[in-house]
Order: sequence, then C-alpha cells, then structure tokens
Amino acid sequence: MKIITKCSEMADYSLDARARGGAVGLVPTMGALHDGHLSLLKTASRHCDNVVMSVFVNPAQFGPAEDFERYPRQLERDCEFVEAAGCDAVFAPSPQEIYPDNYSTYVNVENITGVLCGASRPGHFRGVATVVLKLFNIVMPQIAVFGAKDAQQVIVIKRVVEDLNLSVKIIAAPTVREPDGLAMSSRNAYLSANERAEAPLIHRALMSAKGLYDGGERGGRSIMDCVRSILNEGRLINPEYVEVVDTTLLKPLDSIVRPALLAVACRTAETGTRLIDNVVLGGDL
Ligand code: AMP
Repeated sequence: MKIITKCSEMADYSLDARARGGAVGLVPTMGALHDGHLSLLKTASRHCDNVVMSVFVNPAQFGPAEDFERYPRQLERDCEFVEAAGCDAVFAPSPQEIYPDNYSTYVNVENITGVLCGASRPGHFRGVATVVLKLFNIVMPQIAVFGAKDAQQVIVIKRVVEDLNLSVKIIAAPTVREPDGLAMSSRNAYLSANERAEAPLIHRALMSAKGLYDGGERGGRSIMDCVRSILNEGRLINPEYVEVVDTTLLKPLDSIVRPALLAVACRTAETGTRLIDNVVLGGDL
C-alpha cells in the first residue's frame, strides 16, 4: 500500500491508475479509523480497482471552539488497519499541503447548510465542501463513498457534484454500529463510561420512531415526539435537535409523504461530546 503526502504525487498515482484502465475510488476520512470507515473501503473496492483512503483532519470544518486540536490522530495505526483490509493508497497530506499560504477559495453551498448540524456548526459544511472538492480534484476518483451516518454531509456533497457538474459518483454506505446500536464514531472515544452506557438510547429512539412509521404513522410531529420522549429517559444525552426533513432540500416535513430524513444530534452532559445519528423513512439517501 502506498502512503502519499503530496498532492502532486497523489495526482500522478491516479493518472497512472486511470491510464492503465483502472477505476479509482476515494474514501475521505479524518482518520482514527474504525469498522465504519472499513465498510466504506469495502464498498469502494466492490466498484473500483484502486481504492484511495484520504486521512486529513480538515481545519476548515472545525469551529473555533471545537475539537480540532484534540481530534484523535493515529496515522501509523490507521495505515496498518486499512492495508490489512486491501486499501491501495492512503493520502495523508499536511494542512499546509492542502491550505498553503494565501489560500482563499471556499465552496459555499446555499440553503441546505444552515439547518440541522449547520445551525450549530456555522462554517462546518463550507469547510467540508471545500476539502471534498479539493480531494476530488487531486485524487480524480470515478466514485467516492461516504457514510450515511453523516446524512447531511452526503446530501451536501451530492448537491456540490450536481451543481458543479462533477463527474464522480457518490455512494452512501450504511451506518456501522456497535453491538448495542451506538453508531461507530471516532468521537465515541471522548465519552465517559456513564455516557457510553446511555448512548445507545439514540439508536433505540430512532428505531422506535421507525417502528411508528412502519406501522403507518406519517405525522412528522408524532415521529419527533417519539424520539424526544425516549431521549428524555436518559440523564446524560441531551438532544440538540430532532428533525424530520425531506432528503434533498432538508425542509421540515409535517407529513411524511416522500422519503424523510429523521436526524438527531445530541450533546452529552459530562464530556460535552456531540453525537449524531439518523434513519431514512420511506427511502434511501
Ligand atoms: P470521519 O472520519 O468521521 O470524518 O468520517 C469519514 C467517513 O466515514 C464519512 O463519510 C463518515 O460518514 C463515515 N463514517 C463515520 N462513521 C461511520 C459509521 N459508523 N458507519 C459508516 N460510515 C461512517
């Protein structure tokens, strides 16, 4: 497996792979890899001969009071982890390589980035859209795989691809969970033991709401109330938002007459860790 740190070397690798007739797949990550990331890698390798995983803790997507500095970094372990899983190349540039001096260009996606996670994380999706477009230009993948856990991110990236006429196919891969239902996340490492014990409540709340939907309930309000009432059983998991929105424009749905994203973000009481999860009702991302 190749470990690449320079943009020019990454582009050469991809041009070479494509010249040999191989398809290139990209899995963008921030590292501290877990089985969720690995499943994206496996999805990519089903579609492509050359799978590139990027590992880059993107400063542009963190707010000033967020966890950029303490975000877990473990590149050596990450490389061993994905090499064993058949990854062809890891692209791990430095911040300076991606944002050199005088860097000034950002991608701003209107309308859908100020809601849900964007409401409490101003600038987050501007940073995500910018780095992902840069990665697409550097790696030149035919497909890129993202996790459905970050549903708004998938929707924003699909918007960028469509709006800017990019020729990359976006694939959303299902959320990988711990045995008790908690969505795997690099940030789960921040949780205290008590918070970790309560955290599966989020998935349980989403599954109860899905049960209501499957039983015929179509009221957005009833679905959200169901999630909130189950989250209220916990002492340490405080909802930041619970929303039912459509899967394209992220507009609230009073009545679920088309595929709906039921999305939740919570903040834990002891360590202030932010946890997100979701389920799509009546469709896919
Ligand atoms: P991150 O490194 O957390 O920024 O995530 C990199 C990619 O992995 C994103 O597309 C995430 O949506 C995806 N991802 C993170 N956690 C999971 C999970 N538990 N299951 C599936 N994909 C995930």
